[in-house]
Amino acid sequence: MSLDWEYFVSLFFLPALWKACVTVITISTLSWFIGLVLGFLVASAKMSESRWLSVPAKGYIWFFRSVPLLVVLVFVYNLPQLFPVTQPVLGVPYLAGLFSLVITEAAYMAEIHRSGLMSVSKGQREAGKALNIGALGIQRLIVIPQAIRISMPSLINEYITIIKLSSLVSAISLPELLQTGQRLYSQNFMVLETLLAVAVYYVAIVTVFGAVLQWIERKIDVTRIEAQTLDDQQCAELREKAVMPITDKPELQGFGRPPALQLKCLQKAYGNHEVLKDISLNIAAGEVVSIIGPSGSGKTTLIRTLNTLESLDKGEVILFGEGFIEGPEKRSNKDAQQKIKRIGMVFQSFNLFPHKTILENIMLAPKYHNASDENLNVSRAVYLLDRVGLLAHAYKYPHQLSGGQQQRVAIARTLALSPDIILFDEPTSALDPEMVGEVLKVIQDLAKEGMTLIIVTHEMDFALSVSDRVVMMENGVVQVDLPPSSIRAARNPSHSLIRMREFMGITKLGVI
Ligand code: ADP
Ligand code: MG
Repeated sequence: MSLDWEYFVSLFFLPALWKACVTVITISTLSWFIGLVLGFLVASAKMSESRWLSVPAKGYIWFFRSVPLLVVLVFVYNLPQLFPVTQPVLGVPYLAGLFSLVITEAAYMAEIHRSGLMSVSKGQREAGKALNIGALGIQRLIVIPQAIRISMPSLINEYITIIKLSSLVSAISLPELLQTGQRLYSQNFMVLETLLAVAVYYVAIVTVFGAVLQWIERKIDVTRIEAQTLDDQQCAELREKAVMPITDKPELQGFGRPPALQLKCLQKAYGNHEVLKDISLNIAAGEVVSIIGPSGSGKTTLIRTLNTLESLDKGEVILFGEGFIEGPEKRSNKDAQQKIKRIGMVFQSFNLFPHKTILENIMLAPKYHNASDENLNVSRAVYLLDRVGLLAHAYKYPHQLSGGQQQRVAIARTLALSPDIILFDEPTSALDPEMVGEVLKVIQDLAKEGMTLIIVTHEMDFALSVSDRVVMMENGVVQVDLPPSSIRAARNPSHSLIRMREFMGITKLGVI
């Protein structure tokens, strides 16, 4: 027996099979898309801190990943027997099939989304918070775009799985490809020819749509974008747009004005580990204060409490004479949220947004807070980028820059909200030695301009040269708080000052 090739070829001119093809494509695409959105909601619910959301979401995923699709299909299609009101929808094979595919796929997609969401680092969310972007804004602008990009290969794979799974809908008499083929061969018994043609149709659909989705995946993959450095003329053209951000700020410094920050008896413990025992400090507007101390002494924790990335157990922070953070409350009121804009933060690991260009990184927060004036936002970002000496790199992505350049962008991004105070958490510790200088130079310029700076650092020479005061923290308390001149020159140093000098590498003869 040989195959009837003529009949096989004729099946590619049969309208019923082309129609079935369209059914497979529409039901698969709709299931994929709705499953993708629903799966995202289920994943968010599963990751939620509320048990009212996470427990039902876990149950949903567990159940629909356990039950075979065929069982769900037949059950859903027969549901109208129990609930006649569902007949107009679930009695229609196409809709019953779509519904079953969606609820099953949402469970699988939820797990794909969850792994995508979890792989977006905590630092990304914290950078968003430090730019005073709300929880929904952080999801929309920072987390979801990155998570989708990470999940894209698995999501494409799921689309292909759905196309093949859609053949199961033949069990409830939907005239999709398999069912149409079965109908044909039950009349003429050309089983192999028909199934071969059906297979070719499936392969063609998977190939075409798989290629389209892979094209989309490549489009959203910024690591494939070629780096473009602007030449002098392009920089000059861009520079013409530059506009300095807000300059009409009220005067903050001078006699009788309140300190920029007053820290009063701050306490913070993780479990029974008291990290901040009783920290009190005053920082005047325009003052530059470096915080030094051994690793684990609570420096990072201290500055993170100052922009509410960590909560306080006790104590109070007063910002320019007005109550800001108190006791165990965390971002308790809208007022505190407004004030947080006045404090910028630069992280040790930069935390630039990898899916945005350098210019977009700087513009993200201003755009979020002041959506209306796009041109002005661009002009200001251009100004700031030029200021940190990176205008030529405006259209590159963070991974295309060196560590030192990335940290300078992070500083420009912080400046974009025109903060009155900037917190630095070891801004140069993640850098190769030759890049430390370029970042310190930018910080030094800020200090010269009178910006209030709190810098956690291990760069002792820098701390001594740039700071008005150097604070040494150890065991959760401030051990020494002195201007550099007194640290070097005090004749009868206290025990803690001797310890500080040792820590800083200062001998009686001067700085090593
Ligand atoms: P430093 O910046 O001075 O090196 P940190 O403020 O990072 O110190 O940490 C101080 C102490 O608090 C360390 O012992 C650290 O292990 C602990 N710690 C920091 N963050 C957390 C956290 N989220 N949970 C538990 N312990 C923490
Ligand atoms: Mg630290």
